[in-house]
Amino acid sequence: MADSRRLTADRFFGGTDRLTILKQFLGYLGGENRSMSDAVEWLIKNTRASSPKTIKRHLSFLETIDVIENTGGTLLPGRTGRQFLETDEPRVLFDTLHENVAGFETILDALQSAPLDDEALMAVLNERGPHDMKSPGVARRHREWLAVLGYVKADDGVVRLTDAGVALCNDLQRASGQDRTSTTTDRSSTPPGESTSVSELFNQAKQATPTTTGTSTVERQQYSRRDAVREFALADADGVCQGCGSDAPFLDKDGEPYLEVHHLYRRADGGADDPENVLAICPNCHRRVHYGQNGQAYNAELREIAEERNAKL
Ligand SMILES: [Zn+2]
Ligand SMILES: [Zn+2]
Repeated sequence: MADSRRLTADRFFGGTDRLTILKQFLGYLGGENRSMSDAVEWLIKNTRASSPKTIKRHLSFLETIDVIENTGGTLLPGRTGRQFLETDEPRVLFDTLHENVAGFETILDALQSAPLDDEALMAVLNERGPHDMKSPGVARRHREWLAVLGYVKADDGVVRLTDAGVALCNDLQRASGQDRTSTTTDRSSTPPGESTSVSELFNQAKQATPTTTGTSTVERQQYSRRDAVREFALADADGVCQGCGSDAPFLDKDGEPYLEVHHLYRRADGGADDPENVLAICPNCHRRVHYGQNGQAYNAELREIAEERNAKL
């Protein structure tokens, strides 16, 4: 069966408070004529968002799934956005994600059999769906939405269904072949808010085993620390170079924006593999800082950018 849905979901701002922020934002858009720049300004003021480009990308995703609409430059809550405002029902958002993005049902179905981590969820998406990924970024963004909606929980990287998630699966199975109707899930038993926000990634990177030298066990630990730091930097940049502010120049083989992780203080100079010590930058900026005539001065600029970022964390 041909599946014309998109393959990826975008995040929205607010981390674990994503739904609260989304509601407040929709409320704001429901006020008088809000332009794109009003919306960008509101999000910069009320969330950790800092890049207008990232904001516009996330807004365009919300438009794709009818949560907002753009009428001649005026932003308004869309059909689904209005429904969510009225009902406060996560299922409204799930239904629109499910209708517009492939893979949510595949993930839920797999989790019905067993708890899985993001890598395994990626493998399931590749195996059963139209996806073809090498890194679990896409699966992770799906999982984040399911977590903020209260359907899954991630503990120590292991994702499992909540009671509401089990009820949703049963409901989807009952409803398959007929129109889905909205059901009231018991949100009290499953508080939303288990998504991995950028600040949580920061904390995970901070808590990962520090780098030392030596045995192969330690090398594996180094790898996990480096991975956690890298994951934080890429999530924080969210597709936009933290040096020059350009969009990542291309998508990698997994469809993720390509950026490189730069250490502001070199590890060899005692710079720790620490989330506060990294930025994700485009290959041009990265070459500039390491090979440019004024590379050191540029690195100093990058350190200032990171200091501002670190102060917000
Ligand atoms: Zn750049
Ligand atoms: Zn570098």
